[in-house]
Amino acid sequence: MAIPFVDLNPQHRACRKELDAALCRVLDSGTYILGPEVEAFEAEYAAYCGAAHCVGVGSGLDAMHLALLAMDIGPGDEVIVPSLTYIATWLAVSHCGAQPVPVEPCEATCNLDPERVEAAITPRTRAIIPVHLYGLPVDLDPILAIARRHGLKVLEDAAQAHGAGYRGTRIGAHGDAVAWSFYPGKNLGALGDGGAVTTADARIAQRLYALRNYGSSTKYVHSVRGFNSRLDPLQAAVLRVKLPRLDTWNAERRDIATRYSAGLDGSGLELPSVPGWADPVWHLYVVRSEERDRLQQSLADAGIATGIHYPTPPHRQGAYAGLGLCPGSLPISEQIHAQVLSLPMYPGMTATQVDEVIAAIWNARITAA
Ligand SMILES: *Cc1c(COP(=O)(O)O)cnc(C)c1O
Repeated sequence: MAIPFVDLNPQHRACRKELDAALCRVLDSGTYILGPEVEAFEAEYAAYCGAAHCVGVGSGLDAMHLALLAMDIGPGDEVIVPSLTYIATWLAVSHCGAQPVPVEPCEATCNLDPERVEAAITPRTRAIIPVHLYGLPVDLDPILAIARRHGLKVLEDAAQAHGAGYRGTRIGAHGDAVAWSFYPGKNLGALGDGGAVTTADARIAQRLYALRNYGSSTKYVHSVRGFNSRLDPLQAAVLRVKLPRLDTWNAERRDIATRYSAGLDGSGLELPSVPGWADPVWHLYVVRSEERDRLQQSLADAGIATGIHYPTPPHRQGAYAGLGLCPGSLPISEQIHAQVLSLPMYPGMTATQVDEVIAAIWNARITAA
């Protein structure tokens, strides 16, 4: 493809010498599990997020799974999840033995609709997982208020929202815990799998330190049945090189999004809408059209790669066939899944490339819905 969907080379070129040095530092340190490199990243990321604690784990999925366990979520419990999200959000709930209860999104933002959350609460509900999808913060205040009223925990899935702001504060400590992924393509990405939980709650943090390490806080003393899910020092060292550049890279994403939105105005596509209280970080720039498949093909013919986030909603996956949610049961999510197309977006993408994508979209002559 002449224009890739994501290209990590520009960001790696920008800090290649520091990356090489960081990898060598870990190699020479002799410490390959936990240790000072992981602790330093945890302290730096907690400070960046404005959270008291950060616990590095093996992946974003593990971050959510272990955070739910640290909140004592288990069999018989229900957890409210968005119907429109990556399946990992649901899997984290299922892996605790609890039941994911899907709630439909706001059509404008694609994020969990606070007005629908309350109706989904039952006596078994224990937690809500708002997902800051595509890098756009969820309207947290009403969700936190509902949670407080009903005595529920809030775990934010911030896997796509590193550095995003909600009403002037960075995402990272609004809810009881916030789960992060450092999958390579995320706004802050490692060179492999990685994840973290940030929280203001010392008790949740202490439980996570044990859960990620065989349930042990003291060597060979196992207070709970834990897991092996630790952030690698190699990945921590890479993340420490990239973190100081995250705001600059997010600003590049914002410029690309602004250029897309200006250039595509009137093109027939439904463009992302940003509420006044949100400072999004554009993990993805997602447009919508009833002619999505034709548009994707037309862009592919022009050498432009695109993505679909996501082609099939969690409730229509084989993994959740047992829930018995038939086609049409979550119509807003299903319609969005059928219409979304993610345009190329990455730090280092040039204005010329963005203009090429815009021109190719106009060439496709989409008719407005
Ligand atoms: C990437 C992602 C995850 C999973 O993170 P991994 O590190 O790949 O396990 C979870 N939720 C959302 C919304 C994601 O985008």
